This record gives sequence, C-alpha cells and structure tokens, in this order.
Amino acid sequence: MTDTATREGIRAVLETFPHTPKAHVQSFGCQLNFCDGEKYQGILRDLGFELTDSREEADVILYNACAVRAHAESRVLGWLGALKSLKERNPRLVIGLCGCMAEEQSVRELLRKSYPYVSMVLGAGAMERLPGALLEVYRGQKHTEALAFAGLPDETLPTVRMSRFLASVPVMYGCNNFCTYCIVPYVRGRERSRSPEAIEQEVRGLIAQGYREILLLGQNVNSYGRGLETEISFPTLLRRLDRIPGDYFIRFMSSHPKDATPELIDTIMQSEHIGRHLHLPVQSGSDAVLRAMNRHYTVEKYLALIDYARALDPDFSFSSDLIVGFPTETEADFQQTLALIRRVKYDNLYTFIYSPREGTPAAETENVSTEAEIADRMARLLETQRALSEQFNARFLGRTCRMLAEKYNEVTGILTGKTREGLNAAVPGRAEQVGQMLDIRITGVKNWALTGEAV
Ligand code: SAM
Ligand code: SF4
Repeated sequence: MTDTATREGIRAVLETFPHTPKAHVQSFGCQLNFCDGEKYQGILRDLGFELTDSREEADVILYNACAVRAHAESRVLGWLGALKSLKERNPRLVIGLCGCMAEEQSVRELLRKSYPYVSMVLGAGAMERLPGALLEVYRGQKHTEALAFAGLPDETLPTVRMSRFLASVPVMYGCNNFCTYCIVPYVRGRERSRSPEAIEQEVRGLIAQGYREILLLGQNVNSYGRGLETEISFPTLLRRLDRIPGDYFIRFMSSHPKDATPELIDTIMQSEHIGRHLHLPVQSGSDAVLRAMNRHYTVEKYLALIDYARALDPDFSFSSDLIVGFPTETEADFQQTLALIRRVKYDNLYTFIYSPREGTPAAETENVSTEAEIADRMARLLETQRALSEQFNARFLGRTCRMLAEKYNEVTGILTGKTREGLNAAVPGRAEQVGQMLDIRITGVKNWALTGEAV
C-alpha cells in the first residue's frame, strides 16, 4: 500500500490544517466505477481524511467519472466548472478527476487548457497512484497525471463500502471485445482476472461481516479466468463461492452472450445463493446491427440460450441492455428488436440512446436516422417493455419470494429491494428491516416492480 515516506509526507501537510482534513469522493457511471470509488475513499480515509458528503467543506474533491456516454461526461465537466469558485475561496483545495473518463486524451487536454484548477488526473484503476499524486500537489506541483490500467489493483487497498449489506466484488478488469460503439476497451485496457483465492477470501470476509448481497463484476464475466496461471471458468468460480455458508444472494454482471453457456445456466439452476436470473445484454435484435456492432453472436444463438434456460425453468428471469439508434440501425432493424423483446419477455431492460464515442469505429459512421426518429424508437421501446414487464411479472402473483430490503421510505412506509430473481419489489415495512432478508407474498405488479406484503 502507500509507502511510509509518502504517508508521512501527507501527514506532515495535514497536521498544518486548522481543522480535521476532509475528502469528498463522488462516483458516476457503472458499478465498477462505484467499486473503484469505494477504494479511493478507503485510501483517503487511511491517509487521515474524514469523508464528507459536502463539497463546500472538503479539502480534497475527487470526481470518479465514466466515459461510456457523452452526456454523462458533459455533466461531470459542468460539475468541475462549478468547483472553480470553491477553489478561489480555498486555494488549498485539491480537485481531482479519476476513473475511465480521465483516461481519454481529449479530456486530459481539455482539463489542462480550460480547468487549470483540476490538479490531479488519475486514470481508471490508478488508485494506488492517489497518495503520490496528492503529495506532489501538496509540494507545489500544479498538475499531475497518472494513467494506469494495465495491472490489477493492489489486493490490500483499503475500502470504505457505501452499504453495510450490498457489496460489489470485481472479479476481473478490462475488456477484449471491442464492440464498435464502446470506449471501455480503450480506457480500461485488456482483460485480467483476479485470482479465485483472493475473490473467495474477500467474499467470505463480506459474508462474515453480514453482507447479504455480493455482486460480482466484470465487463464480461464469462471470460473470467482466461490467462490465469491455473485457468478456471466463471461457472467454476460461481460454484466455489456458492459453497460459502450463509444467508445471502450472489449476483453478477455482465455476461457477454457470445461466451454465455448452458453450463452457466446449469450452475445458476443448481446454486443455493444465485437467483434464477441472468443479465444478458443483447444490444439489438437485428443480426445486421449485431454484426456492425462486432458482437459475435446472432439472434438465433442468443435465443437458443434463453430457450435452454426456460426449458429448465419457464420462469427463468432475464434482463438486458439495448442500444437504440446505433448508426446503421433502420426502422426495420428496430422492428426486429421489438420482436426480440416480445419473444424473450425480459423482466427488466436498461435502454440507452447510442452515444458516439471518439476513437471507436462506430463514431466514424454517419447515422442513418434522425434524432427525432431515434427518440421515437426509444419511446416505443419503453412502452412495449413496460406492458411486457407487467404481463410477465404477473407470473409471481400469489407466490412467496425472498427479498433483500434495501431502502425505506419514511413518508409512504414502503420498503423496496430486489428479490432473489433480481426483480424490484416493494412492500410495507419498517426502517429497521433495511438490510434484512424478508419472505414476501406477491399480490400485485406495478411500475416495473412486484408489490406485496412480508409474511
Ligand atoms: N461489458 C458489458 C456488456 O458488454 O454487456 C457492458 C458494459 S457497458 C459499460 C454498459 C452498457 O452501456 C452496454 O451494455 C451498452 O448497452 C451501453 N453502451 C456502451 N457504449 C455505449 C454507447 N457508445 N452509447 C450508448 N450506450 C452504450
Ligand atoms: Fe464495451 Fe463490448 Fe466490452 Fe461490454 S463487451 S465493455 S460493450 S466493448
């Protein structure tokens, strides 16, 4: 972890502060970014900072931002712009940008030119570089950059988890797939897996601390284990983790359909802690678009896996990611996407309007559709899925499901959370039930969620 000289250098600076030094870390984007954010928090707390939700009272502000869509990036740039006045009022304030957005050369150039008060730029996975970068800034350096996405983060990095019952555990970093629309392989580097021993040790520790849901993360968990000294498949890792005793759920994301196998479905079916649910991002229902996206599967192959699972359990739950308005997508392609979602009957869909990302092949292609056509497709997609979700979720009516209560609304008295199958659920309850596993009887289906009562 942080070497002694750096730690002492920072401590010496912090001792000159007239108050307890405070740090504010805010993460945006995917679960993996939030997971990195928990490590940035851990490191800052370990260096002697108190964590704060308030930017105004912070001595270090770190935005941990996502590069996947342009809209999210412009929002972060807007937020960074708003920090200028804080820096003017407090010259000792250190402002940093980290995460995959900070890997982009265009962003780094923009920061150097137009945001000179942003003094630390740390790429995705450059957590270990934070103490050194901070010390450089405290010693007078105006701007420091560290880009590091090649290796695995140090296993001993401290973590401050945002939840006391939901924990994310990365099993691998990076991506080798180069989908033509996606910036991730350029900003997070090639695939590399953590050892199964390190993952198991972390999961055992979390369960012993009372964590109720373990979310295993990777850009394509199905290629987990490739390149390790002793190769191991993702289903084998799942079976190993599932043997850990306790009352908890295991979830994982994302599964690339080109590498998802019947063995994965069999593992889910036989497991004690994994619900009968798979997040299987399809992106489009048109083979022509899937080819242009470089996804390496056809709709037929995708459906074969869905049918395999549904033959074992007709209620097997699927969710997916879909992109609307990919440059080559025509209305006829979109109709095939609608046909696919009617055929699969997803419980949940995460839908994205295509966002061109500089440096990716798709960004070079002119879009065959107008913005208005794309917006109209998105509206039709959402409406179709809303009706389908309600219809298909109705299969749970009258049944008892296991739910992890995640949030409580003081005004309505409603607890919300997810069932073992990954479906959103809402039941009347009490604040102290947050973090507990509940058995709930399903009596209704409303707004993408199951409703009912605890039994
Ligand atoms: N690796 C995962 C996979 O392939 O399923 C997903 C990671 S990606 C961060 C999450 C989702 O963002 C993708 O499944 C895709 O639907 C969406 N996405 C990625 N690049 C996009 C882009 N340029 N525009 C719109 N959506 C995008
Ligand atoms: Fe992006 Fe494709 Fe890799 Fe997912 S699999 S992170 S969509 S390149």
